[in-house]
This record gives sequence, C-alpha cells and structure tokens, in this order.
Amino acid sequence: MESEWTNTTNADLTLVLEDDLRADAGKEDMPKTADGTVELFWFHDIFWQQAYGVYAPGFKIRCNSNARESVLVYEPVSGQPVVVKPGETFSMTRWLFVAQDLAGVMADYLDARDQGDKLVETRLTVQADGRPVSGARIAIQCGDESWGTVVTGDDGSVVRRLPSGTCEATVSVAGQNFAMQKLVLASDGQHVLELAEYHPGIASITVTDAEGRAIPAKIEFKGNDKTPTPNWGPETAEHFVRNLAYTANGKIRTELAAGEYDITVSHGPEYDAEFTKLVIQPGKTSDLKVAIARVVETPGWVSADFHSHSSPSGDNTGSQRGRVLNLAAENVEFAPCTEHNRVSTYIDHIEALELKPFLATVSGMELTGTPLPLNHQNVFPLIYRPRTQDGGAPLTDVSPETQMERIAAWDSNSVKLIQQNHPDIGWLFYDRDGDQKPDEGYSRSFGIMNVTEIHPIDPLLNPTRYHIYGGKETGNQTALNWLQLLNQGFRIYGVVNTDAHYNYHGSGGLRIWVKSDTDDPATINSDEMRDNARNGHIVMSNGPYLETTFRETGSSGSSVIPGQDLAAKSKHVTASIRVQCPNWFDIDTVIVLVNGRRHDNLTFSRDTHPDMFGKDVVKFAHDVDLELTEDAHLVVLTGHRTQLIGDVMGPMWGAQHPVALNNPVFVDIEGDGFQANKDTLDMPLPVKFVAQDER
Ligand SMILES: [Zn+2]
Repeated sequence: MESEWTNTTNADLTLVLEDDLRADAGKEDMPKTADGTVELFWFHDIFWQQAYGVYAPGFKIRCNSNARESVLVYEPVSGQPVVVKPGETFSMTRWLFVAQDLAGVMADYLDARDQGDKLVETRLTVQADGRPVSGARIAIQCGDESWGTVVTGDDGSVVRRLPSGTCEATVSVAGQNFAMQKLVLASDGQHVLELAEYHPGIASITVTDAEGRAIPAKIEFKGNDKTPTPNWGPETAEHFVRNLAYTANGKIRTELAAGEYDITVSHGPEYDAEFTKLVIQPGKTSDLKVAIARVVETPGWVSADFHSHSSPSGDNTGSQRGRVLNLAAENVEFAPCTEHNRVSTYIDHIEALELKPFLATVSGMELTGTPLPLNHQNVFPLIYRPRTQDGGAPLTDVSPETQMERIAAWDSNSVKLIQQNHPDIGWLFYDRDGDQKPDEGYSRSFGIMNVTEIHPIDPLLNPTRYHIYGGKETGNQTALNWLQLLNQGFRIYGVVNTDAHYNYHGSGGLRIWVKSDTDDPATINSDEMRDNARNGHIVMSNGPYLETTFRETGSSGSSVIPGQDLAAKSKHVTASIRVQCPNWFDIDTVIVLVNGRRHDNLTFSRDTHPDMFGKDVVKFAHDVDLELTEDAHLVVLTGHRTQLIGDVMGPMWGAQHPVALNNPVFVDIEGDGFQANKDTLDMPLPVKFVAQDER
C-alpha cells in the first residue's frame, strides 16, 4: 500500500502518519500484537484461519488496540518528524501480509526483509494412538517469539516455514490442552506430536422425528467426571459451536476424547428433547440413534423469528450460514433476513444446507440509526439488489420519524411489515425530548409501524413497573407499557424476537407463531406472513404453545383469533384456551387479562385449580366464560411462575420463566366499534426511562 502527500501550501507541513484498522476480536480466538512499538503489527484469527501483518520499511509502528480497532502510528526510524516542504511530495509504503496464520505472516515478513533463509520448511503432524488428529491447534513459541497457532488439516498435518533451532509446541484439541513438547527444527523436518493423554473415538449420531425423517437438530455435549466438555469453536461458528453440534440433516460425526458424555438433543419447543448418555471408547465408533417426537400440534400456525443478525450486520462476526443452521435446528419455520443497514439473503445457505423443507425466508433488513434504542426498525419484504451498495437498502436518518417514512416509501411504497424494534415505549410515544414530561412523542411514526417488539415477556408473570435486573431498575417494562398503549387506543400488535447476533444458542429462545394457510415450511408464503402479522394474527412465546379463540357465549357466530374484532352485545364472551408444552418445561398459570387487568375469577393456577391443569403435553384446555362491563381487549397470558425454561435453551434463554401470550382480540359490546377505556393500569403513562438515582 502506498500513500502520497503533496504539500500545495506555502508553509512546511508536518505529517502524522496513522492507519486505523478494524478487526473484531471480541468473540473470536484472535490475538493481536500487544500495545507498544514494534516493526511488525499483526492479528491472528485462529478459528477462521486468517492472519494479517503490517510492516512499513523505515518506520516503527506504535500500536494501540482494543477488541475491535487498532490504531497504528508510524514513527520514522530516524526519530525525525516527517516535514514536507511547499511543493514537495512525500510517499510511504506499507506491506500488508495476508496468510492463514501468524506463522505464515511471519515467514512473509522475513522474506520481505531478505531474512527468509533463517526458516526451514517443517511438517508437523499430530497423532493420538498412532492416528492423525485433524483440527488440532498447535501453538508455537520459538525463543521469546510467538509464531502463532497453526491448525492441522484432514491428514493431521500442517506445513509451515519456521525458525531453525529449538521451538516449543503446545497442542490443544477441542479446547483440551496437552503437555508442551520441544522440537528441534532443521531443514525439511518432519515432526510427529504424539498426544499421550488423548485417546479419541468417534461419535456418530443420527436424529430423526418419530416417523424416522431426518431433522435439523441441536446436540449438546457435556463431559461427565473427568471427561472434558468439548469446546469446538467460538460462538460465531457454524456446525460446531462451543459444546454444541448443529446439524441440518440429522447427522453428526465427530472425533472426541474417550469418556462418558451427557447428550441433549433438541429441535425447538414443538418437539420433545432427548436426554441421554454416550460413551466414547478409544479408536471405536459409538453410534447413537435418537428419535424425537413432535408432540405439540400447531395446525394453521407456523413459528417465526422476525429479527436475526450475523456478520453482514457489521456489529458482529457470527457466521450467516451458522445463523440459518441455528434457526432450522430450533424449528423456526419462517425467518426474514434482517441484517443491520443492508438487504441480504439466506437463500444460498438454505440451498447449500438443503433446508428448504424446514425453513422459509425472504429478504428484509433492520434499519439501524440513532438514537438507540428508538431508531431501529425491522422490515420485510425488501427487494435485494446484489452488487449494489447495502444490497439496495435505504439509508438511516437522524429522525426516527423520517427514517420510518423512508422505509414505508421504499420499493415504490410496497406493502411491508414495519416493526419497531426494542423501544423505550415511554420515550417513543410520550416523551419525544426525553425531559420526563409527557409530550406528543414521535407521533409521525405511530401510524406507520404495524408491530412492536415487547420482550422480555416473562416479567408479565410477576409484573413490576420497571424492569429489574441485578436488583436495579434498568428500564421501562415494555410489555406492561404495551398493555397501557392498547388501553389508550393504539392498535399496534406485539411481537417477540431473539435479535440473535451469535450462534451459541442464538436463535430459538423467543418466537412467534403466525397464522398460516400451510403448515409446510417449504410452501410458506412470505406475503401471507407479512399480511397476517400486519393483522395481529400472532402469538408470542419463549416456548409454550398457546392457542386462543374467542366467541360470543352461546352465539352461533364463528370464533375469532388474535388480532381480530368481536361483537358481543350480550357482553358474554367465551375464551377457548389451550396450552401445550414438550417434555422439557411446564406452565402453572393461565390468566385472562381484560384491558390489561387481572381478575381473580379469570386467574387459574396449579395451586388454586389443580384439576384444570394436565401433566402431559396438553397442560390446559378449557373454555373460560367472561362477562364484560365495557369494551375490552382480551389477552391470555400463560407461564410458569417458579420453574425456568432450562438448559435446553442455553444459559441466557434458559433462565427465562416459560411464558406465552396472544395478541388481543378487541371486543365491542355496544355495536359502535371497539372503544379503548384509557385505563393506565395504576401507573402513569411512561416517559423516557432514567435510572432511579437520576430521577
Ligand atoms: Zn437487531
């Protein structure tokens, strides 16, 4: 890389020579040159096997890095400042070395300095019980210099040019470290690194549904006693993510240390999970065939996640193919592609992984502006225009209202689902300037948004005015504020999404079920998803499957589903409520919220109404009669007040209480259309959240 400066002024110009680099290392195994002054700056992404070096002949590099960025200041070796006289030109060259690992960068660097003759080509082979080990990491230290970490290929070998003489090699396999070995490197050397403490066998696992059809799945491995838990790769990876194996076709075959493992096989909350053990013996293949049944029946509804990310979003390094594999493994059946600030697509990944029978998609995006958290909107469908800037996406705007209007107008005013992401409802609707005094809010956007994210939803089981985290009030309670909004007459439907950025239990921990003409993911129509979501035919959940229909009691008229209106001049409404769960979590409560309020006679729990709750898949299946005194929107909330979702969904999602709720049905008892009752639920309407000690 060469840069040139010409001084077109009449005065001397002193140059500050600086490059800024971005290399996101936060979730990667990616060492960078330690801060200080060096001749070669490098960073080395071990898992994805990419490394880069920067060298500027005639300069030292003063480098300063954080997990994301590095600032390189070039200081002349002479110690003199770089002064360009009027009319003169100064140029400088940097070399950029690109290799698979630091050893490759260092060899290229020494070649560039004519010192490559110090190096000897060396083949390193990792073996266990006499057989090659692929994917083994070898950390190499020669003298006081790290030569990075090289990774063995399918034949258990890797060839690099390394310094002659004594080096130290430390091997690790799937996160398990083995004893350091000394190597004496000479020309054309071959070195075998035998791992005396590693005795691997093969796990061969097949996952099907109860009918024997291979299905995508998530398989968790936990070592028992002295057996190490594997750590195959960072949470940005695809098929092997930390101790999880994700499979698109129900098949996993991997080498791992001998011992006994706890295995959990899952495919989202419509399927039972299997909890079993697998014993691996050295040199042998252990077969495990697991059939998990789809026990939860969801005819007429498909599961969806409207908000997901991966590396094209620009704020993370998660593999997009890994995202698609996550979604399919968790039995999400419809997932628009919603990267930040660009239109992208999952189609190629779905084809490559042969996931078309399991996952439908469409291009969309998250338009991500400032201020956070307000000015973020998800939208689908959008036309993807490959090889154009941002895939043909609209640009952000400093005004949340202008930004939303721009989305609505994009693609010639096409019909879209416009979703407000993770709002502070107080700030967005009632406190535009954030001064804690109610105002008109960002009112131009109210009529444009079709749905809004309202998660987390499990606090609704035991609601508090503010969201509490770690004993502190950390934000407005969005789900509660949404009920207040409905009471003020806003008809903005709720959704919950994972907003997943990484692939370790990334997708699956929140989902919606959307009404659909087809139950076959391969034939899901994205326009129908858009339209049914615009009409509020959505149930929100972190696991439990909730079905609700409502009808006028005793009437011959047909029943209505979430998002619809119901006329009930008799003031009597019957809610048909059914809740199903698989074998890995439960519910203990069903509450019918009338205009957002609880009533004792519409609150059912395993303590107060034990006979109403089941122990098998169907946890609750009853008609509940209500008598209304005014127009009312009806929301059924179900969940478990004490138990958690649990380990199947990983440490973050698994810490939620199971919960589900439907979008409201709007009941009109006077025949003049639904009238909101303006109840604020014993709280003021929200304003922008500020921490308690600043209030
Ligand atoms: Zn997002």
